[in-house]
Amino acid sequence: MKNVGIIGGGIGGVAAAAALYRLGIHATVYERAPRLEEVGAGMMLWPNATRILKELGLLEYVAARSGLNTHFTVRASSGNVLMNIALGKFDVPALCTRRSDLLAALLSALPREHVRLGRELTHLEQSKSKVRVQFADGSIAEHDAVIGADGIRSRVRAQLFGVSDPVYRGYTVWRGVAAYRGWAVRHGYNSESWGHGSRFGILSIGQSRFTWYATANVRAALPGERKSELLQRFAGWHEPIPELIESTELILENGAYDLPPLPRWTAGRVTLLGDAAHPCTPNLGQGGCMALEDALVLAKCVLQERSIESALRRYELLRRRRTGHIQQRSLLMGHIGQWQNRAAVSGRRVVTSLLPAALFEHNLRSVYSYET
Ligand SMILES: Cc1cc2nc3c(=O)[nH]c(=O)nc-3n(C[C@H](O)[C@H](O)[C@H](O)COP(=O)(O)OP(=O)(O)OC[C@H]3O[C@@H](n4cnc5c(N)ncnc54)[C@H](O)[C@@H]3O)c2cc1C
Repeated sequence: MKNVGIIGGGIGGVAAAAALYRLGIHATVYERAPRLEEVGAGMMLWPNATRILKELGLLEYVAARSGLNTHFTVRASSGNVLMNIALGKFDVPALCTRRSDLLAALLSALPREHVRLGRELTHLEQSKSKVRVQFADGSIAEHDAVIGADGIRSRVRAQLFGVSDPVYRGYTVWRGVAAYRGWAVRHGYNSESWGHGSRFGILSIGQSRFTWYATANVRAALPGERKSELLQRFAGWHEPIPELIESTELILENGAYDLPPLPRWTAGRVTLLGDAAHPCTPNLGQGGCMALEDALVLAKCVLQERSIESALRRYELLRRRRTGHIQQRSLLMGHIGQWQNRAAVSGRRVVTSLLPAALFEHNLRSVYSYET
């Protein structure tokens, strides 16, 4: 029986372990944190991701804890609707969920002893038949293959191909979760509102709770000042934006970083997955969805191919083009969304309100229809 080690217990690592386990392949997750808890607000799970959850037998669990998403609306900061995109009919729903709920669902598909906490990878080396991994606590493990699912600043990636520093794309993203029971958000309608160099997104995670994100062309603000900084920046934007910011307890802050598509992810018996392989800016809400797709494709390749090396090569081949495309599209969307110049913003508003929504629906369909 093949025995796979996975470095990183984020969405990608745990999903990969769950997918492998479901197909009868033994996988162990090594996570450096002492506890497995997904920090973060909510995240979009588009149909390409909920299809994976369905195949893993987890869709019902996640859907029961999520908001259903039927439309995506682009608005001006005044609230005027510029475009309303119907997400169309798919075999599975588009959802928005708390990250912690998604992680809990993935963990529920894995026996507890398959997750080792407090294990920070420091070094790995491979021979012809094994990969040996070393951890900061001095322990050592051996596996037939190792998956680096250790995020955008992946140590596995650095060990395989040298250090590649993530690229800062010029803006900061804040996120939070708040309850809201007012009239200003329609059920099933998620939205992103555009200003000058700033955006604000509102996504329902169900039961009158919303996850929101805000962007601005600035370097991160100081932690204690987040709420007042955001209230000032989004004062005068449409309802319920100021109210959502005001009623949020914990506001998270991330710079927008990614990497251009990497030339290689795989070396022998070691490969990369999720943000370690193809980190992207959050503009399409697809980073975590791509990690879920990777997980299932990888597990199927390990099951089907005769050797570990050919399984990992095939996985990379199947995933490279799609993830590279998403990385580049996400970068472009962020670039356009962060326009600050008055003339450019006016032009964007006019073009967006004139373009047929069907064009975007068609475009999105190509992303959401993906099947492993
Ligand atoms: C603001 C923002 C909004 C986003 N919104 C969405 C969205 O709506 N939808 C969506 O699909 N995606 C979204 N994403 C992207 C998504 O969060 C990521 O793509 C996803 O979390 C990647 O998962 P991962 O498991 O590959 O990496 P990570 O989540 O980074 O997990 C890596 C794990 O590896 C561990 N680790 C690191 N180094 C080591 C080591 N040496 N040894 C052991 N363990 C290690 C870390 O502690 C961590 O637990 C968003 C991202 C941001 C920043």
